[in-house]
Amino acid sequence: MTDDGELREATITQSSQSASYWGKQIRLFAHQWLDTALDVIFPPRCIGCKRVGSLLCSDCQARFTAPPPLHESDSPLSECRATAEYGGIIRDAIHAFKFDNQFRFAPVLADRLFTEWQRAGWPIALVTAAPLHINRLKARGYNQAGLLAARFATLAQVPFQEAAIRRVRETHTQVGLNRAERQLNVTNAFEANSTIVNGKNIVIIDDVYTTGATLKACADALLKAGAASVWGLTVAKTHHDNQP
Ligand SMILES: [Zn+2]
Repeated sequence: MTDDGELREATITQSSQSASYWGKQIRLFAHQWLDTALDVIFPPRCIGCKRVGSLLCSDCQARFTAPPPLHESDSPLSECRATAEYGGIIRDAIHAFKFDNQFRFAPVLADRLFTEWQRAGWPIALVTAAPLHINRLKARGYNQAGLLAARFATLAQVPFQEAAIRRVRETHTQVGLNRAERQLNVTNAFEANSTIVNGKNIVIIDDVYTTGATLKACADALLKAGAASVWGLTVAKTHHDNQP
């Protein structure tokens, strides 16, 4: 299919989101309520040290090290920051959140993003998230980066616009690809909405930064649509090309 054809199909599909999509959204909210109820009956345990009281205790979080902020001269991102080096307990927390539907981790991970953003002092006017293709969104029922971004935006008191950017081309998973393959895989995969992003300083949220290919491709699209600047913020960043 041509790019135009894919674009059209994505537009049509997005404008008529199916009942199954909304069914999944309802299940997502039910999940979140159930998690809250379970917290009362079974108090949360730290995913690291297993102590009762929180999902990720302050002692375990204190052991994380944030990688240095990333400034690359050839990057469309003004700066990119992560709250922790990927691995160990933070990897377990992200996996539980992302692959095990444990939405209870969204607040604790978003808190980390908020703290890092406060440290950075970026002058942002809009929050968005690395998007999934509509087909993958339908299959999964939610975008984990969007859940983090929404929570982060509430804390930062900055508007969240998930529709600022969308994935117009379905891509293969980035897992297992090297740096060059990842870059190629996401080239022209995103399109930003200029009505929403024009003239804005924007932070884009994702869960893990590996080679940065996805966030950079998103930033390219946002700048092309008129964004004034784009800043990247992730929960964790891998060392070199370690795969999540
Ligand atoms: Zn702990």
